[in-house]
Amino acid sequence: MSKPWCRRCAKCCYVWLGFQTYLGLRSTKLQININEVFGNENLLDIDENQIFFEEMAGFHTNNAMECVGAIDETRIMLNILAEAGFNGRFIETYKKSKQYLAKNELITAINEYTSIDKKDEHIPQKLRKPLLDLFQKIRLHALEFFRLQGIPI
Ligand SMILES: [Zn+2]
Repeated sequence: MSKPWCRRCAKCCYVWLGFQTYLGLRSTKLQININEVFGNENLLDIDENQIFFEEMAGFHTNNAMECVGAIDETRIMLNILAEAGFNGRFIETYKKSKQYLAKNELITAINEYTSIDKKDEHIPQKLRKPLLDLFQKIRLHALEFFRLQGIPI
């Protein structure tokens, strides 16, 4: 196993997918050389990774048994990469599947993951305003990213 990224587990696939989506696309402000981090390999093409992508995208009853995001978080990333013309075996599988998010489902999912729970009673009063201001800044940055991908949100 190669460290720190084995590139053959759900966690690596999830993190790699996030890098490709949020740091790899041309319209992203925070461009980094993903190949320097993960090696020059498209994890979507690897046979043994198909099951992890299937689980993370909700093809089976259970999500992958590792530190990965919720199914809709994975689907948002796969939709964006598919629309951007990103290649890969699992992208093709996903595009043909019933798991592929329609435009309205994509917008609903993005709204869910970019909304802020302003009623959270557990935030200490002293930190409440600075934290909510910071969350709002991050939310606006995220929405700008999604708009740059052509998503009307
Ligand atoms: Zn791994």
